[in-house]
Amino acid sequence: MKNTTTNDMKNMMNCPICTQSTPSDGPYAPFCSSRCKTIDLGRWANESYKITRPIENRDLEEGVD
Ligand SMILES: [Zn+2]
Repeated sequence: MKNTTTNDMKNMMNCPICTQSTPSDGPYAPFCSSRCKTIDLGRWANESYKITRPIENRDLEEGVD
């Protein structure tokens, strides 16, 4: 993929939450801040509650001794 984004920094990426440009090796990467990181974690928690995947049950069954 070739996007015309800012390539000044070699490891820049967009925060998945607020789409702000942030260094990929930052302290909160891939997020721009601890706030966005927390928001993302919250989203994941909500998503996993909404979307119940049968894969998990299958994995558990096969993993049980
Ligand atoms: Zn952000």
